Amino acid sequence: MANETKSSHAAANAKMEKIVSLCKRRGFIFQSSEIYGGLNGAWDYGPVGVELKRNIKDYWWRRIVQLRDDVVGMDGSILMNRAVWKASGHEVTFHDPMVDCKVCKRRFRADQLETCECGKDPKKTPLTCGSELTAPRNFNLMFKTYVGPTEDDTSVAYLRPETAQAMFVQFKNVLEVARKKLPFGIAQIGKAFRNEINPRNFTFRSREFEQMELEFFVPPDQGLKWLEYWKDERLRWYEEIGIPRSKIHVLDVPADKRAHYSKGTYDLEYEFPFGVQELEGVAYRTDFDLKQHQEASGKPLEYFDEETRTKFIPHVVEPSAGVDRTLLAVLCEAFAEEEVKDDNGKTEVRTVLRFHPRVAPIKCGVFPLLKNKPELVAKAREVRDLLRPLMNVFYDEAGAIGRRYRRQDEVGTPYGVTIDFDTLGEKGPELKDTVTLRERDSMKQERIPIKDLHGWLLQRIN
Ligand code: ATP
Repeated sequence: MANETKSSHAAANAKMEKIVSLCKRRGFIFQSSEIYGGLNGAWDYGPVGVELKRNIKDYWWRRIVQLRDDVVGMDGSILMNRAVWKASGHEVTFHDPMVDCKVCKRRFRADQLETCECGKDPKKTPLTCGSELTAPRNFNLMFKTYVGPTEDDTSVAYLRPETAQAMFVQFKNVLEVARKKLPFGIAQIGKAFRNEINPRNFTFRSREFEQMELEFFVPPDQGLKWLEYWKDERLRWYEEIGIPRSKIHVLDVPADKRAHYSKGTYDLEYEFPFGVQELEGVAYRTDFDLKQHQEASGKPLEYFDEETRTKFIPHVVEPSAGVDRTLLAVLCEAFAEEEVKDDNGKTEVRTVLRFHPRVAPIKCGVFPLLKNKPELVAKAREVRDLLRPLMNVFYDEAGAIGRRYRRQDEVGTPYGVTIDFDTLGEKGPELKDTVTLRERDSMKQERIPIKDLHGWLLQRIN
């Protein structure tokens, strides 16, 4: 049993290593400031990574904001008045317990010791390596900075550790301009910063990351109902971007583990290779946030219900998801290695990212069979220009066609179109203006008229 656990641990590590290396090799994710040795907990998204990230954010926005009547969006500033973080409680309570190892001098989160690696012997944890740890002390996770030229207590500001607070403090403004009735929500996507004690597991725990958050304001007696609604709605969204329901665990967070103001929280967790870990929290936050800001600012943040003629502070249900964690889950889910036969019948390993076409960074590769045939190149560019206004296409004329397919497999491009001599009508009029369409997962090829191409692709991508 112990051996089995060890080997599955090794397999999970090997899978993560392969994913990290593919991410660098193909331009999904690079270490930030790499040429200077990097910066722990910070990452840069490369040419295909940024497309994948945009597609994830765009689809969240589409489903949460644009396809609904009851949610509007906003884009708040990262720097906010310090009073916001005093009222929200972050300045005093947004901390993690930290311990130091007296032997290896590493710092750890005291509540995650069983999953941390000892600094001297990575096979052991700080609990099993026999070293002495300091007593836990609290460490505030907010990055502190100063606004303006003087660096003193009056100019302190923080990089926001979550996007949510902008939506609470703008609640009244948005309510007025959006002319909405409860229940209604405000959504936002943006950067957040946390000075994590132990950034790790690739991008999973970073110091700079992005969040997709919705604050959904409801009458006080409807909180628990909407909590269930948003939990289910969010689970559907993950399925729609290619993460099967069976890989998501729903943790009903027990009362003693929830924030003190929450009357119910679900953590949606994904089976990452390094363990089952949180992707998103869906929390019923009661009226805590608006109440705090009303009290601290002295500005009314109540809602007047025309029907019941009552005034109250709305309650809030908040689905809060991490962009980077979702992207990592999408990558882990899509990654596959399989044995295939090459053109000469030899077995080789094909690495493929089986992204759902909806989030795939490139939707279609366009390839002239040979690059030294001007007619093929001209026709292929024509096809590229036909598709480009509708989707992200990648045009590639260099190298053997098999190698070009493989390169697109590795970045998860679901479809490839090849323009060959048949397209030019050289083998007869019936195949003229048709192309070979290759499907990434099955590697099956079919012939399709150019005029049908964009309809065929759009139907599958959306
Ligand atoms: P954790 O317990 O993993 O630290 P959390 O419960 O503190 O997460 P929330 O405050 O609920 O996280 O933040 C909402 C979401 O933001 C998380 O579910 C996660 O997807 C994302 N997130 C939070 N912290 C980080 C981080 N350090 N790196 C990447 N994403 C993060």
